[in-house]
Amino acid sequence: MVEQNLSIPKYWRRTQQYYRLIATRCTKCGKTYFPPRRVCDCGNDKLEPFELPKNGSLITLTVLRSVSVDFEKQRPLLIGVVDLGGVKLMGQIVDCPSPTALKTGTPMEVVFRRVKEDGEHGIIYYGYKFRPVKGCES
Ligand SMILES: [Zn+2]
Repeated sequence: MVEQNLSIPKYWRRTQQYYRLIATRCTKCGKTYFPPRRVCDCGNDKLEPFELPKNGSLITLTVLRSVSVDFEKQRPLLIGVVDLGGVKLMGQIVDCPSPTALKTGTPMEVVFRRVKEDGEHGIIYYGYKFRPVKGCES
């Protein structure tokens, strides 16, 4: 999910990370990080960048029925944790009007969607979200 209140230059510096989902993997212990980190918890500073797969499976789902004004049109808001090749990512689930169809293990894919608009500067921010590969019919 794109961090809120990023400055515009900071946002643009990170677009590669947001659009291609670049993570890093420790060359010593194999631990993976998204967003990428330069130093592993084990102390090793040699981490290799790699691109996360665009397909994974749902681990958990949270349905938010009470949301802030910014998300009113998307209510209920679905937030899921998806396993992408061993890396767990949290994000909004879209294209799914009936969340009862979603279960642990449901195949999910990454999509890039509008996250927010900065009316003052006319900038539209995009970020990754998830959608069920086979749609959302129960
Ligand atoms: Zn490590």
